[in-house]
Amino acid sequence: MTRIGAIEAGGTKFVCGIGSERGEIEDRISFPTEGPERTIGQAIAYFKGKGVDAIGIGSFGPIDIRPGSPTYGYVTTTPKPGWSNVDLLGALRREFGVPMGWDTDVNAAALGEATWGAARGLSSCLYYTVGTGIGIGVYAEGRLVHGLVHPEGGHTLPRRHPDDAFAGRCPYHGDCLEGMAAGPAIEARWGAKGHGLPAEHPAWAIEAFYLGQSIAGAVLLNSPEKVILGGGVMQQAQLFPLIRAEVKRNLNGYVSSREIVEDIDGYIVPPGLGQQAGLCGAAALGLAALRGAVG
Ligand code: ADP
Ligand code: ZN
Repeated sequence: MTRIGAIEAGGTKFVCGIGSERGEIEDRISFPTEGPERTIGQAIAYFKGKGVDAIGIGSFGPIDIRPGSPTYGYVTTTPKPGWSNVDLLGALRREFGVPMGWDTDVNAAALGEATWGAARGLSSCLYYTVGTGIGIGVYAEGRLVHGLVHPEGGHTLPRRHPDDAFAGRCPYHGDCLEGMAAGPAIEARWGAKGHGLPAEHPAWAIEAFYLGQSIAGAVLLNSPEKVILGGGVMQQAQLFPLIRAEVKRNLNGYVSSREIVEDIDGYIVPPGLGQQAGLCGAAALGLAALRGAVG
């Protein structure tokens, strides 16, 4: 049986596991992201002797995914201390002579959802993670979108909510989507973490305003067949109906597809792979590498 090593390399924690060809996770461990030497060492130690046929890595970023680039496989300009210019893929390649898939955490999750989850059988989807940051993975026409660097949809600039005076907290852009709507922005705006705010708190209408606006824009730009929303903040299930309503309000009848007009509950959805979306996504990258069709 094929054994696929999977690494969900996050800025907060690393999750490593072994997946099957059918997307089942057979074993997993998780450890906090510390310095790169220690953390990558822990990942290597986990896979030693496990007989994996391939490894897939879905990583926090920005990362270099341009084949042929001298820094291909590196985490590049991250503000995370110690992690900028780190050859994450290379460190694993030096230890394991198996095919390796490498992409952003959100592209990995999009591929996992398209392979085994909520977008199974579709040729396009978007995967949003709303957590410590906001990232958007883009799967289109049956493959992951890379392009110049890789999509960075979390840093687009939203129109402001009229009642929101929060300055935003992205170190690069202030009030970009991530600066206004990621978990730390909710905490800074309201003085409490998201899970401490009641479901009827005004925070959620503002959160849905920004996410719905972004999704409406992304629907117009990419025309995805499914939009999947994951990450810690999306544990707040009351956000889903609020976001769907905001997407409809923003589109205002212009996109007249059945999926949006009649069945938006089935169009904007939580990950079909649940909490495993990130790790299954990494496994999907590994499987794609094994089959020689990376990305
Ligand atoms: P990461 O993005 O670091 O991989 P998460 O997706 O868990 O991890 O995101 C962490 C962020 O999400 C934190 O800002 C945290 O406050 C927020 N968060 C986590 N769980 C919840 C929850 N149940 N409700 C609201 N916000 C949450
Ligand atoms: Zn930004």
